[in-house]
Amino acid sequence: MKTISQFETIETWIFDLDNTLYPPSADLFKQIEVKMTAYIAKHMGVTQTQANQMRDTYWRDHGLTLTGLMQEHDVDPLHFLSDVHDISFESLSKDAALAHTISSLSGRKIIFTNSDKAYAQKVMAARGLMDVFDAVYTIEDTGFTPKPQQKAFDLVVSADGLAPTRAAMFEDDPRNLKVPYDLGMATVLVHSTSADPHIHHTTDNLTQFLRQFV
Ligand SMILES: [Mg+2]
Repeated sequence: MKTISQFETIETWIFDLDNTLYPPSADLFKQIEVKMTAYIAKHMGVTQTQANQMRDTYWRDHGLTLTGLMQEHDVDPLHFLSDVHDISFESLSKDAALAHTISSLSGRKIIFTNSDKAYAQKVMAARGLMDVFDAVYTIEDTGFTPKPQQKAFDLVVSADGLAPTRAAMFEDDPRNLKVPYDLGMATVLVHSTSADPHIHHTTDNLTQFLRQFV
């Protein structure tokens, strides 16, 4: 367990986007999952039930539904992503307190998400987080290799030139904190629970958690 004081040496703050920088109650994934199932059913010629199973299996086995579809069905990633991310952002609201708190952290603030650039921009705009981050790394930047794969982290670490042992990673999916932990990052699970030993800290209130360090 890392202590709070170990955050004093953090110089890069890495945030996942979905369900981390907005509350899971916004439930964007509910809309996205409906779109994914419809996309799979239409383009693979399978039933709704089969499509649902494929979506779930690929997410579990590959960390991202898209990766399974690309590897096993040669799906065009940007065609898929633009389709399934065509959703309503009405459930998101601007969060001035979060924006202010992240801006106040000393060091570099970046986003590392498995989603695509266009969608990430929409989520950030809806949350009022457009001017907060120094860089936003999306699935395009990793050549469509998703978290939790080691390669995705290596690419972002290298692209950003960050020192993992002086970085903290904030995520809602415990699977995506294993590699950061192994790389020496401080790991913070947000809006979720897990008994995994690679989780240093857990919080349901990201703003409050970050305020300790500003
Ligand atoms: Mg997430």
